[in-house]
Amino acid sequence: MWKDNLQDTIAAIATATGEGGIGIVRLSGKESLAIANKIFVGLDKKNPAHFKGYSMHYGKIMDNQKIIDEVILTVMRGPKSYTRQDVIEINCHGGRLSLLKILDLVIKHGCRLASAGEFTKRAFLNGRLDLAQAEAVIDIIRAKTDSALKISLGQLSGGLSHKINKIRQGLLDILVILEANIDFPEEGILAQDLAKTSLGLMEIDKQLSALLSNASCGRILREGMHVVICGKPNVGKSSLLNALLKKERALVTPVAGTTRDTIEELIDIKGIPVRIVDTAGILNPRNLVEKKAVKLSRRQIELADLVIILFDASSKLDHQDQGLIKEVKNKNVIAVINKIDLKVRIEKDKIAADLSKVVTLSAKSGKNLNLLEEAIYDFVFQGKRPSPELMLVSNLRHIQALRDAQKLVGQAQVILADKLPTELIAQNLKDACVYLDQILGKDFSADLLDRIFTDFCIGK
Ligand code: GDP
Repeated sequence: MWKDNLQDTIAAIATATGEGGIGIVRLSGKESLAIANKIFVGLDKKNPAHFKGYSMHYGKIMDNQKIIDEVILTVMRGPKSYTRQDVIEINCHGGRLSLLKILDLVIKHGCRLASAGEFTKRAFLNGRLDLAQAEAVIDIIRAKTDSALKISLGQLSGGLSHKINKIRQGLLDILVILEANIDFPEEGILAQDLAKTSLGLMEIDKQLSALLSNASCGRILREGMHVVICGKPNVGKSSLLNALLKKERALVTPVAGTTRDTIEELIDIKGIPVRIVDTAGILNPRNLVEKKAVKLSRRQIELADLVIILFDASSKLDHQDQGLIKEVKNKNVIAVINKIDLKVRIEKDKIAADLSKVVTLSAKSGKNLNLLEEAIYDFVFQGKRPSPELMLVSNLRHIQALRDAQKLVGQAQVILADKLPTELIAQNLKDACVYLDQILGKDFSADLLDRIFTDFCIGK
């Protein structure tokens, strides 16, 4: 179905909603220039169909005799364009009304409204980008920190695709050797081919491990780390969240959680986008609303990459604290003893017996807040921060496909060692190739494309 859609000329507002100095309406498809001719009147009155690629033209957008706006028309002729089709960008004044009027006009003249990500989908389907590169486009738009941006830019310029193509080529080289041996099954795999296959598989396994080794850091930088703050009422959860927010940069304005009992913030902590959820902190629910809040908190704790459990330094550990310790002790946890500006009465050693990482601080005065930030940073990077250039994999879809491919390569190694039929090794390697192809989009379904591109914004 999407193949047919490539024939339509699509249009969308490519700039963000709201007022701006400039707004852009973007068109792509074989009618782009003809449609531009119907609505654009340049100083020299030339037909845009005669404009060169990568040229800009001052003029007016007209609806019959009525001036809609004064614009600059940019022409990018296919195949040297983002979508490899003829692309027109109309740079108009950045008011909502002007943009909508121009969009209406191009639709009246034969454009179809583009769906989310459809320009980038065309770039992929027309072979300008592979799927991993196309996915990088939305990651660049969404990047919240410098590191996340660098990873996505590397992916767009083909860093990940290059590595995957290399691994894929290695698999194909081994398959050629295996296929030659399959033709003579009675002789078994030749000794020199056995050695080559074994070495080749080890090398591929190594390359897959190298890609996956930094993937969890990459994923956290791309998606943000999900941190949940829990603790009984009044230990200072909101105060801690506020202290972190005041010191660090809030990346987005606060969003209310799914109920009034959780608050979520996105903060940049030492370059790591951290989504912090402050839970309600109720342990013994007394009514339905509190029951719901507890259920929600538990769910948040289950999903968390990291849990921060808070204690009040000025009072002794009680059964509520103990109950919470039990709930979180098998998770990745940092214990925070808050209010150290007051007289300390809490039994730190009892906490440390169950939870290995303990930080003491005061959310009120800000004392030792940096120690908590360092603990979060260490948790992500485990003492060694790879440079963004080495973090090529950050997308869960890619991580899963690489893991699946590696599993099959591992199985092929076992089959080879057990001297089982060569066809079995070959089949595993062919299946591993399919996983790699899924990352690059050499093998894809319409459903997968829909899932990827509906995440995009309209106009990109
Ligand atoms: P929550 O119920 O866990 O979210 O706790 P709050 O953040 O609302 O704090 C409860 C009370 O503890 C408030 O009166 C805060 O001002 C106080 N508080 C929070 N952190 C500190 C701290 O580091 N030192 C002192 N002395 N008081 C604090």
